[in-house]
Amino acid sequence: MKFHIFTLFPKLFESPLEEGVIGRALKSGLVQININNIRDHSVDRHKTVDDYPFGGGPGMLLKPEPIFESVQSNIEQNRIKRDSPLILLSPQGRQFNQNIAKELSLHEEISLICGRYEGFDERIRCNLITDEISIGDFVLSGGEIPAMAIVDSVSRLLPGVINSSDSAKNDSFYDGLLQYPQYTRPADYQGMKVPEILLSGNHAEIEKWRRRESLKKTKLRRPDLISSLSLSEEERAFLENL
Ligand code: SAM
Repeated sequence: MKFHIFTLFPKLFESPLEEGVIGRALKSGLVQININNIRDHSVDRHKTVDDYPFGGGPGMLLKPEPIFESVQSNIEQNRIKRDSPLILLSPQGRQFNQNIAKELSLHEEISLICGRYEGFDERIRCNLITDEISIGDFVLSGGEIPAMAIVDSVSRLLPGVINSSDSAKNDSFYDGLLQYPQYTRPADYQGMKVPEILLSGNHAEIEKWRRRESLKKTKLRRPDLISSLSLSEEERAFLENL
């Protein structure tokens, strides 16, 4: 899968994407990242990318021309497919979650536009992009960290990116639940013991225990997730009795 990133700070992506799961996915070619410096498409000799808001107000806004031209030149040169998602990163967008990560992972490529300063000229929002995504109800200084979060979470869902194909499926949110509690050696650390069932070797019972623990944790910590789950009668009764 290919990610096209539009940013004023290309260097911010160098180290975070070199390491770990994403670093390996890049090396193996399962993931490609094409970083575009928005400033390269500034239309004046001072390489201006921002300007004062009409009507006054604090801060500077990203001008439309460098962003439109940066995206359009990639499309014209067939570096970006015309019908692929073009996503603006913004606290005003729909809130990112695992379902959106799954939805994006089905595309061959997506583009992510990172804002800075006070944000974007509204014409970018209304006339260029196909989607607007926020990573939460808080304001960051730029769209680079949200872009990295999206690249990371979407890449994890691509076949072959993480070692065991099952491991993304066990993650929280994959099937709408929080993940069950996990333990590793030692089985007894200073009197804090691992639940007996996990040492039993009975895989059917372990699966049952994990499912129940997931349901329990989700009900206690994220009751808002429960209503969209499809549960068996037994699971419903279990939750009601908690
Ligand atoms: N004034 C803007 C507003 O209220 O919507 C916020 C501008 S913010 C300081 C600068 C840039 O950071 C945004 O244009 C956006 O690209 C990025 N950004 C900040 N918070 C974000 C969030 N929660 N999700 C996604 N992008 C965010």
